[in-house]
This record gives sequence, structure tokens and C-alpha cells, in this order.
Amino acid sequence: MKEAVIVVDMLKEFVYGRLGNERTRSILPRLQRFLDAARRAGKPVVYVGDAHLPDDPEMKIWGQHAMKGTPEAETVEELRPQPGDYVLEKRTYSAFHETGLDLLLRSLGVDTVVITGLHTNICDRHTAADAFARGYQIVVPEDCVNAFTEEEHRSGLEYLKAIYGARITSSDELAQEWAREGSTAHV
Ligand code: ZN
Repeated sequence: MKEAVIVVDMLKEFVYGRLGNERTRSILPRLQRFLDAARRAGKPVVYVGDAHLPDDPEMKIWGQHAMKGTPEAETVEELRPQPGDYVLEKRTYSAFHETGLDLLLRSLGVDTVVITGLHTNICDRHTAADAFARGYQIVVPEDCVNAFTEEEHRSGLEYLKAIYGARITSSDELAQEWAREGSTAHV
């Protein structure tokens, strides 16, 4: 099993901007620690965030948000991509849709995606759908994803588990597994 961590939409818009709230801010410390653990374990970290153009379909639903080239479409400072990370742009909910993510993951030999970021029931869910259709295993650390409400978050997790067979776990659990992998790999 080779995992990559996908960081979905941890942008200023969804954390501190018009579409941000306390729930989205609440996952920052854990996600920050988790990404560091992934990097230490040699897992690729791939950021995929909105970079919208004015005619994108979502404008009808949400209004203009995370527009390409604006500060709102930038990753929050706390999670600033590090050397060796990958950064891709998307224009719809799914991190796979016309972003080059699938090609990147295949070239890295990845077979399992660890989905983090926002929102559990929207972009995380659409990303999981496309990962599922492409044959990837799906893992979700539930403390590194969130939604606008607790109900949406919970039902989002249930959906990922029931429909895509996602393994719902925690960031600590995964980080511990990776640390063990690392120690046995050198025996
Ligand atoms: Zn969007």
C-alpha cells in the first residue's frame, strides 16, 4: 500500500474568508501535525484547491469564491506547502476533475488516497467518488476534515464509509502506523 495525502481546499476563502467558520479553523492544528508526520514518513502531500474562473458551474450555487489569482484562493499560511509537496488547481468540487491528480498519483505509484481538508460532504465526497472510480483505496482521518455543520460532517463521513468503503480513522492512528512502518523498514 502506498498512500498520498490529498489536502482539499484548505484555502483562505474556506478558513478565514466569506465561506470560513470556526469548524474549518478547528482542524488546522491537527492537520498541520498530520502533514508533518506524512512528510517524515515519505508520503507525498498533494494540495488541490479551488482556483475558479467566473463562468465555472459552481458560481450559480455559491457565488464567486476562491477565484483564481486572488488571495482567497491561496492556501492558509499555517499549512503552507513545503518543498517536495505538490500543488494543483481545480475548478469543480472534485480534486480529480481535469487537474492532473490521477496522472500524478499513478506516476508516484500511489494506490491509496488519504483525504483531508474541506468539506466532508462536498469536495471531499466528490474527490472520494472519483478516487473510488479510479480504483484507489480511500482513507479519511476524521479529525482532519470538516463541513459547515456537524450534521453535514457526520453524514458526509457515513456516506464515504458506506458508499466508497472509506476507512474512517484518526490522524494520530495513521501517524502511529507510519512511524511503525518507518521503524520496521530499517530493520
Ligand atoms: Zn469551488
